[in-house]
Amino acid sequence: MNDQKLAIFGGPKVKTTPYGTGKRFGLEEMKELTEALEQNTLFYHSGKKVKQFLHDFNQLYGAKYSVATSSGTAAIHVALGAAGITEGDEVITSPITDQGTLIGILYQNAIPVFADLDPHTYNMDPQSIESRITPRTKALLVVHLAGNVADMDAIMEIADKHNLKVIEDCAQSYLARYRGRLAGTIGDYGCFSTNDFKHMSTGDGGIVTVNSGKEEDFHITHAFADKNYQRFGTAVVRDLNYLAPNYRMTELQGAVGIAQLKKLLAICEKRHQYGERLTNGLKGLKGISPHQVIDGVWCSYWFYMLRLNESELNCTREEFAKALSEEGISCNAGYIPQVVYMQPLFQKRQAYLNSQYPFDLTGITYEEGLCPEAEHILKTAIRIPVNEFFTAQDLDETIQGVRKVTSYYTQ
Ligand SMILES: *Cc1c(COP(=O)(O)O)cnc(C)c1O
Repeated sequence: MNDQKLAIFGGPKVKTTPYGTGKRFGLEEMKELTEALEQNTLFYHSGKKVKQFLHDFNQLYGAKYSVATSSGTAAIHVALGAAGITEGDEVITSPITDQGTLIGILYQNAIPVFADLDPHTYNMDPQSIESRITPRTKALLVVHLAGNVADMDAIMEIADKHNLKVIEDCAQSYLARYRGRLAGTIGDYGCFSTNDFKHMSTGDGGIVTVNSGKEEDFHITHAFADKNYQRFGTAVVRDLNYLAPNYRMTELQGAVGIAQLKKLLAICEKRHQYGERLTNGLKGLKGISPHQVIDGVWCSYWFYMLRLNESELNCTREEFAKALSEEGISCNAGYIPQVVYMQPLFQKRQAYLNSQYPFDLTGITYEEGLCPEAEHILKTAIRIPVNEFFTAQDLDETIQGVRKVTSYYTQ
C-alpha cells in the first residue's frame, strides 16, 4: 500500500466506498413528541417531558440537580450567572473552543482570559492557568475539547488554592470520564449542549448540572434560566432581584432528549472505540502525533485531531490535508481557523456594538502569541471526523490513508 502512488498524483484512492451513515431519530423520538403534544402544553413547567429528560440525565450522571436550557451557550451563561460572576471578574478559559464558551462571560460583563493548551490533548494546561491568575480571577471555565477531559485533579487543586469556581464546558464531551468521574460532575457546574452537531441532539438545547448538591444553588441556577421566576413552592414567585434571561427548554426538546439519552451510551462507546483504534493504528508513525488522552481519561471523541510534526515531513499542512482528502479520507486542516482571541471582537475589544466595555475596565489586550501552543496546534492539526455510524472499513481505510500519505511525505 505504502509504496503506491498518492491519489493526488494519479494513484489509486485508499477509500472507494462511502462512509457509514444512519438515522439519528426514529420512532422513539416520534412517540415522545406525540406524547408531548398530547399534553396540550409545551411549557416545561406544566408538562412532563423536560422534567423526565432531566430526571434521566441525573440518573445517568449520578447528579442530584440539573437545569435544562435553550442551548449550550445558555447553559454556560446560566452557570456563570448562578456562580455570581459579574462586572470586571476574570474567567480563565481555552482559546480553542466554540464562541458559545465566551458569550456568557461577556454578557456577565466579565473578562475572558486565555490559558495556553497542552500540545497534544488540546486541553488547558494547568501551569498556564496558574500563570494567568490575578486578584480579579473568579472562575475557571474548562473546555473538555472533542470528548477529551482536561487534567481535572490539577485544575481543581488550583481552584481550591485560589478559591475559584470551576465550570466545565462538556458540550463536546458526553460521558467522558476522568479517573472514574464523569466530566461535568467534577467542577461546580457542568454545561452541555444538545445542538444538532453534538453526540445527542434536541435541535438546540442545553443542560447545567449543579454539583454542590445544595438546594439553594439549584434554585438560583434554575431561576437564572427562567427570568428569575421561582417555581419551587405552590405559587410562582416573580420577584425580580437581579437580571436573568429566558433560556427555557420547551417540551418538544425535552421529548426528543428523552429518546436521545437512551442512545447516548452506545453512541459514546462507538466513538470511543473508533478514536482508540485510530490511535492504535497510527501509533509510532514518523511525522504525526496522535490525539493524546491522559492516563485515566475515557474520551468520547467528538472528533479526532492529529498533529503533523513539521520537521519530519516535507509537505505543508495544507498539502497533507489535500493529499489525504484525495485518498477519499474526510479531513480538515485544523479545527477553527484561528484561536478565538484573534476574532474581531477581541482584537477590537468590542463585546457590545459601540462600546469597549468591559475590556476597558482592565485595559486587557489580546495579542497574537498570547497562547503560542494553541496557535501552533491550529496551524499543524488535521481533524478527522468521528461518527457512531462509521464502519470498521471506514476505520481501516482511514488508518491506511493517513499511513500512506505520511509515508510518502516522510521519505
Ligand atoms: C457547541 C458548543 C458550545 C455551544 O453550544 P450551543 O448549543 O451551540 O450554544 C459551547 N462550547 C463548546 C465547546 C461547544 O462545542
